[in-house]
Amino acid sequence: MLLRHTTAKEIDRQALTINPAKTCQPVGAMYAALGLHGALPHSHGSQGCCSYHRSALTRHFKEPVMAATSSFSEGSSVFGGSSNLVSAIETIFTVYDPDVIAVHTTCLSETIGDDLTQIISKANEDGKIPEGKKVIYCNTPSYVGTHITGYSNQVSAFIKFFATATPKKRNVVNLIAGWMEPSDMREIKRLAKVMEARTIMFPDMSGVLDAPLTGKFAMYPKGGTTQADLIAAGDSKFTIGLGAYSTEDACVKLENKCRVRFEVIEIPIGLKATDRFITSLSRHANLPVPDEITEERGRLVDLIADNHKYFYGKRVALYGDPDTLIPLTEFLLTMDMKPVYIVTGTLGKHFDEMMRDLLGEKIPKAKFKSGERADMFQLHQWIKQEPVDLLIGNTYGKYIARDENIPFLRYGFPIADRAGHNFFPKTGYVGATNLAIQILEKLLDHTDRTCPEAKVEWQM
Ligand code: SF4
Repeated sequence: MLLRHTTAKEIDRQALTINPAKTCQPVGAMYAALGLHGALPHSHGSQGCCSYHRSALTRHFKEPVMAATSSFSEGSSVFGGSSNLVSAIETIFTVYDPDVIAVHTTCLSETIGDDLTQIISKANEDGKIPEGKKVIYCNTPSYVGTHITGYSNQVSAFIKFFATATPKKRNVVNLIAGWMEPSDMREIKRLAKVMEARTIMFPDMSGVLDAPLTGKFAMYPKGGTTQADLIAAGDSKFTIGLGAYSTEDACVKLENKCRVRFEVIEIPIGLKATDRFITSLSRHANLPVPDEITEERGRLVDLIADNHKYFYGKRVALYGDPDTLIPLTEFLLTMDMKPVYIVTGTLGKHFDEMMRDLLGEKIPKAKFKSGERADMFQLHQWIKQEPVDLLIGNTYGKYIARDENIPFLRYGFPIADRAGHNFFPKTGYVGATNLAIQILEKLLDHTDRTCPEAKVEWQM
């Protein structure tokens, strides 16, 4: 009983969050910055923040995550971190030679009120930024929002500092990737390639946080969206944002700045969300859907149909990020499962509206909650009140799963206690097939372990 103090009875809490379903803004900004080729994320704050953000990413991706820090002391905490940032910029370009330094703030530098625009403009005027190099920045005060907000702010900064419109539009579709695994980005690019669509994806962490072991250390791995592509994104004819919380702000900013029209859809997780992505890309790239993709879809439908009796009616609790939870909930419903409890630490009306739409008539008793009061303690209480057959979420759920003896599928961020989640996609039809198989395995393994001996079946 690791969580022995969790009671089934709920008490109204106004000022206490227990086990939040989120992490802090700069983690998201750091992750998104790694999706720009040759960029070094820079945390403007204390060493402790930067170490935490790096280790959160390293534990999940099992890769070294490079980032610098303004390394605030007591003095900079009181008088401001301007001189720390300027000397950091000089040192970083001299010692580590990135193409871009991507600065994000922290609680501390935001509380002091450091003005990044002024500090970095001054550094530029004083010749601290070498020719051909860039320093970009975004504000990520972590006492509001979550890692998803930070991710969104960093992606919007890419638009602000790079996207440029020329009089000539190109027959290219921008794909703005919401928070997903590098393998998910790789899969979406593969689908676009199979369709022969010309696309620019940003950010793109494939080849950065799933780079092969070569025996040689690469401070800046081969992957990541290039600066040239980010600049050219201003000339694309359309943008598809994947995940409202992570990408809508960037889509709006790109339209305002470069007149590139956009559509925001869900991350293509599951059958219907992938259908919407393929339809959108097909329409905006003006290309037909090739047989190869239709066949992948058919295999997924076949798998769901063949195993429907195992999926049917299974009660599921899930938690994580809204851009993932919305299509994941839809996918569970597609398989006739029952997503009954859904929790995200990221606040927003969109999540609540989508959950109402998805669950309203089908599962009227389902409970969902978003924002900082939506924590995993309450999710556990709901499970204690009426159990579920499956729990889906990041590593923090393993304690609930163990205490309540529930099959547990690790999905989301962070996954610190398992490997492989960044290799096998969950996006596209192939990803949905992976996901459905993993769900099936969790359910059947549990049945094999816990059913009466007389009911143990050799075959399905
Ligand atoms: S919440 Fe604020 S103080 Fe804590 S690690 Fe994040 S940025 Fe630093």
